Amino acid sequence: MSYKINTKCILSGYSPKNGEPRQLPVYQSTTYKYDSSVEMGKLFDLEASGYFYTRLQNPTNDAVAAKIADLEGGVGAMLTSSGQAASFYSVVNIASAGDHVISSAKIYGGTFNLFNVTMRKLGIDFTFVSPQATREELDAAFKPNTKAVFAESLSNPALEVLDIETFAQAAHAHGVPLIIDNTFPTPVNCRPFEFGADIVIHSTTKYMDGHATSVGGVIVDSGNFDWTQNDKFPGLTTPDDSYHGITYTERFGKLAYVTKATAQLMRDLGSIPSPFNAFLLNLGLETLPLRVERHCYNASKVAEYIRDSGCAVEVTYPGMEGSKGYELAQKYMPGGTSGVISFRIKGGRDAATKFMDSLKIAEIATHVADARTCCLHPASTTHRQLTSEELIACGISDDLIRLSVGIEHVDDIIADVAQALEASQK
Ligand SMILES: *Cc1c(COP(=O)(O)O)cnc(C)c1O
Repeated sequence: MSYKINTKCILSGYSPKNGEPRQLPVYQSTTYKYDSSVEMGKLFDLEASGYFYTRLQNPTNDAVAAKIADLEGGVGAMLTSSGQAASFYSVVNIASAGDHVISSAKIYGGTFNLFNVTMRKLGIDFTFVSPQATREELDAAFKPNTKAVFAESLSNPALEVLDIETFAQAAHAHGVPLIIDNTFPTPVNCRPFEFGADIVIHSTTKYMDGHATSVGGVIVDSGNFDWTQNDKFPGLTTPDDSYHGITYTERFGKLAYVTKATAQLMRDLGSIPSPFNAFLLNLGLETLPLRVERHCYNASKVAEYIRDSGCAVEVTYPGMEGSKGYELAQKYMPGGTSGVISFRIKGGRDAATKFMDSLKIAEIATHVADARTCCLHPASTTHRQLTSEELIACGISDDLIRLSVGIEHVDDIIADVAQALEASQK
């Protein structure tokens, strides 16, 4: 029986048996006990599945991963300790030194630094393309050693809606998967696998957790990509010496990618979330559809207010008719985009500062996408490491304000924004 997403958010991943706890238990244990060393040996050889060390598997973490896999419509998922770890693993699982990856240029600042600086130092080359790139422009970015295409479904902070189908078709024509960071819309509003994406990642720190309690990430495998169609992915299609020569695609089929990520990358690099953080994430997931709906409703009202106030040069909220990205949003996230609005305030950087400092409900925070309304000036905070050219490439100007609309009463949020806009123009 296939349930609607609201039901999956409650039921998926954990089904208690007779007399067992209704709520997912926190298995705060590093290790697991076995009756014989033979049984345990089988686990180490991946011959049997079971728990032996929480760095690789933990019942709480696995239940939450299974829930998110179900929400996205994937075959399996792996939790990570942060969204950054999820982005890193999603690429490094299939690309190594000497390889090349194509990424949208309009991505989260942390991901941009990871790709453009840290992963380049590891020998992986990146070409950044516009999320608006045409099929021809995308085709021109591929090289013989390209291993993946990466983009955000709804970019942070530029709020560009990706034409997922065009990116997926280009990736597939060149024999590589499309990896989508689906953090902002969440699977409630957008399910990239339905449009041809192969791997989805999230910073669960944002709406999924939803209450600003736990940093975390997840990688979800659609199971749809055929890794054996060419010789680009030897890590999946040839024997892994660190596991007595098993070949992931032969042994695990549709689960090859996510199994390798767990068995090899997590084993070696080790950024797992604590079971307690996974438990908090699961609590957040239970109410995700309710919260996302309210975030979107409030944000659309606030976006309209700012647009009509005369204090903004431009308001970007792809859920609002007339905004940049509206047409694509109607196709890829028709039920709503996210609670995040960006706008360019009249009066430049000075007005931006006055606006921010006048807010009372909305807090200044390097965060987005939780219950509380918060506000950020990217040019002086999250993106301050970037050069002016890189800022422009990321779609950020110094009058740009990002407002993450929370689930307080919309009248209170609008009143707060109204008085701060007024103060900003004095
Ligand atoms: C926050 C964020 C990340 C990074 O996630 P962390 O959990 O902070 O490590 C990646 N992608 C997007 C779109 C984000 O908003």
